[in-house]
Amino acid sequence: MTIILHSSKDDVQHKYYILGHALAQSSTYFRGCITAPRVSDKPLEIKLFDIEREAFEVYLKWIYTGRLFIRSLKTESAPVIDVEKQPERPSDLAWTEEWGRWGAAYALGQRLNDVDFKDACIDAAIEKLRQELRSARHVAQAIPNIIYTYSVDGSPARAFAVDLVLRQCTHADFEAIRKESAFPDFVGDLLVGTSKQFVMGMKQPDPLQGTNNCHYHEHSTVDAKCYKLKKAYWF
Ligand SMILES: [Zn+2]
Repeated sequence: MTIILHSSKDDVQHKYYILGHALAQSSTYFRGCITAPRVSDKPLEIKLFDIEREAFEVYLKWIYTGRLFIRSLKTESAPVIDVEKQPERPSDLAWTEEWGRWGAAYALGQRLNDVDFKDACIDAAIEKLRQELRSARHVAQAIPNIIYTYSVDGSPARAFAVDLVLRQCTHADFEAIRKESAFPDFVGDLLVGTSKQFVMGMKQPDPLQGTNNCHYHEHSTVDAKCYKLKKAYWF
């Protein structure tokens, strides 16, 4: 089948010729397109408007390889953060091109209704944060904006955002979140998370520790298998 990305801004199109079954296995959106009754015998053509080409190519590579490539082709050095200097918005410095690509990929997962891809994005974020612990506190302040935009109330991914902030952020960061967060749900979830720790005496989980991230994966909400168990059967 053919997928056409159409940019309304500059009226440019990019075409991809793809075997549909792998997309249908992973994305509810593509499954709907492929299984819908058709009037024509022509090969299926799906037009997607205003999707970032780069994010879509990250998605396609993930479909075919099971790996999420968000690193730039040119070598991107890790952000240098001067902790002494305390810039006004430290999260802006730590939110690199790679994290921008991660955010675009997560947003695309929501648009294509692909829970598996979104879960893989959460794993990729955890892995990246483990490798860049120095900037984890700053990135932790920006990640909730992406996750709360592209998930629904009760999503396990939201629990990841909350646990990350509770584990990595400082008192000053919480002040900034209170003033700047556009997501009242997030601030409320932080309050619930804090109460578990201080009122109920529960140990605050560290999302960057442990080997199984399934409690942060959305597949549990739709009672489906983890993408890690499914993917081997696709090809
Ligand atoms: Zn899982």
